[in-house]
Order: sequence, then structure tokens, then C-alpha cells
Amino acid sequence: MLKELIDQFYLENQKNKEQTRFYITDAGKCSRAVFFRFKNAPREPVQARIMRIFEHGENIHRNIFNILYRLRLGVTTEIPIPSQEIISGRADAILCINNENYVLDIKSMNSMIFRNLAQPKEENVYQIQLYMHYFDIKKGILLYIDKDQQEIKEFFVEYDEPLVKSLLDKFYGLKVEIEANKIPARLADYPRNWQCSYCAFKDICKTANGDEISWEDFKKKIEEFSKT
Ligand code: SF4
Repeated sequence: MLKELIDQFYLENQKNKEQTRFYITDAGKCSRAVFFRFKNAPREPVQARIMRIFEHGENIHRNIFNILYRLRLGVTTEIPIPSQEIISGRADAILCINNENYVLDIKSMNSMIFRNLAQPKEENVYQIQLYMHYFDIKKGILLYIDKDQQEIKEFFVEYDEPLVKSLLDKFYGLKVEIEANKIPARLADYPRNWQCSYCAFKDICKTANGDEISWEDFKKKIEEFSKT
């Protein structure tokens, strides 16, 4: 009884707004999935359990912020990137250690993933590179927290201008496809790519073919499909 009420609370608080700008967390993500979010295409609802996991991650962030303030590291937390036309995002923190500024990005994960983490995840490197770019800070720290055991790993990241340029070029290219209503092709390793397993659009992605297709045509197809 109570479990159902709690789950219902989470499910009723889901907001599937139409996206109008890229998020920094879209860097390295499947272009087709990002396209579908911009068009507010039909998606699987996020399970209440997954929403509680996200919420737990946010609480871990807050605990770390609290420690950083107490360490007096010249901390500013949850800072939006300067306003510009294409991407929005919020860095976890900017710190000053030994007179050097760093962008900090915190990630939490379960013990199994944490134990096997020898390098920062590629998509996390992309995100912190973009934060460094927009804040004009040349160094970053990716801090990974084991949610189960509370162990910590850190990785230092140097600003990589060519990488940032390629990430921004990809965003501008996808913006053109979104405006032209062209659904990007599936990921080359669909459906084995890990993103496909967690993708909220996997049902509609399956009904489209793998190549680039027209959104207008595909929208009619999924509208007819939903009536049957
Ligand atoms: S199922 Fe895979 S290829 Fe299709 S939209 Fe999702 S992530 Fe992209």
C-alpha cells in the first residue's frame, strides 16, 4: 500500500518537457535519442526505482559540497555555464587548490562499476571538457563515488581544445538535423551499445529503420501505430 503510494508520487512528478537546447550531458550520447527528446517523441516512463537512484546521487553530491565548503577551497557550487545559444548545463563546482582553479564533476555509481573503473568514463570526460571550455578553466577533476562502500576515486583532466571543437561541431550538426526534421541514423553498434539498453526511445527506434529518416513521415507512422 505505502510502496504503491511512494512509487506513484515519483511517477506523477515526471516531467517530459520538449527540449529546446542541448544539455552538456548530451555530449557523447546517441544523436537519435537526443533528437527524439527535442521532438518530445513517445518514450518509456522512468521507473520510480530509477528516480530514487538519481535522487540518492543528488544527496551524495550535496554531502560532498558540504565537505568542500568546510575545507574552504574557494568553492562555488552548481554554477550554470555562461548563456549562449546552443548548450545549457550546470557544473557541480569550481574549486581553487594551491592557487589553481579546477572544474569539479561528481559521479556516483554502484560498487561493481566503481571497482572496474581504471579510467574516467569517456562521456564524463566530454562533459568536463565542455565545462572547462565554457568557464575558461584548463584543469578539471572527475570525482567518482562508490554509493555502496563510499570509496572515492579521482581523475585529473587537462583541457583538450581539438576534442572540444569536435564535440561542439557535433552539436551544431545535430541542431541542423533537428531543424530540418531529419532523424539521425541509429548508433553503428545498435542494439549492443550500452545506451540502447537504457534508452527510453528503444521501442520507437526499433520501428524506424536504421538510416536517417524524415521525422514528419515517422511521426505519422507512430501516431497510426498508437491508435491500433
Ligand atoms: S535504441 Fe540505441 S540507437 Fe536507438 S535511439 Fe536509443 S540509443 Fe539511439
